[in-house]
Amino acid sequence: MTAPGNQTSAGLLAALAASIADAGVKVIDLTHTLSPDFPTIVMPPELGQSAPFRMEQISRYDGNGPAWYWNNISFGEHTGTHFDAPIHWFTGKDLPLNTVDTLPAADMIAPACVIDCSRQAAEDPDFLLTRSAALDWEARHGRIPARNWVLLRTDWSKKTGRDYANLTDDGAHTPGPDAEVMRWLVEERGIIGLGTETIGTDAGQAGHFSPPYPAHHYLHGAGRYGLQCLANLDLLPPVGALIVAAPLKIKHGSGSPLRVLALVGG
Ligand code: MN
Repeated sequence: MTAPGNQTSAGLLAALAASIADAGVKVIDLTHTLSPDFPTIVMPPELGQSAPFRMEQISRYDGNGPAWYWNNISFGEHTGTHFDAPIHWFTGKDLPLNTVDTLPAADMIAPACVIDCSRQAAEDPDFLLTRSAALDWEARHGRIPARNWVLLRTDWSKKTGRDYANLTDDGAHTPGPDAEVMRWLVEERGIIGLGTETIGTDAGQAGHFSPPYPAHHYLHGAGRYGLQCLANLDLLPPVGALIVAAPLKIKHGSGSPLRVLALVGG
């Protein structure tokens, strides 16, 4: 196997490992700490609810385990920084390899385009990314390549508690993509997935869109993925970061908390 620059692929990996060791390639953690305090999505009261993260101690160098510390943990699949598999949405329910335990391992490593909407989201919590805004981004940074993550930077990850969920009587008010840009990103650009800093890949008011929850609808219907509750997107370049996002291998799982890493060159 040869790789770009007439380097063997083995040589390329050795060069990458050396660059990570000397910080020529930086590894940026895009993950929030998983704790009981991190906001969990709230569904209308007549629907089932996601459990928050829970942790109970088994032992801590004591009578329950004199030399060791460990915990039991439990959580909803869609808790904290987490991955959505195609089976999460009805549009992806009959696709092959649509669960976290069956999706192709190679799909867990892919480059990212980062669209910075932080200024707009600061002005309007219901800000929506449109196709026209994505085309403006392409005019500056180039066409969004197939098999790339699109990461929506809103700086929402800097908010905490009630401000993060931003729930009012009429639901959540958080930024996201509109329906047209989602159809276009999936069908015309072939993205591998959409990542956001908010509690879902869709905007807080996306239940009122057509189709409802268009990010979920189009991504998962095409066998693509979602990442939510990302952090540190402000540390990424518009293009060129390589994302490692490997969900837990839960049998028939619809998603899972995970550690998301970005490799960024100098
Ligand atoms: Mn989710």
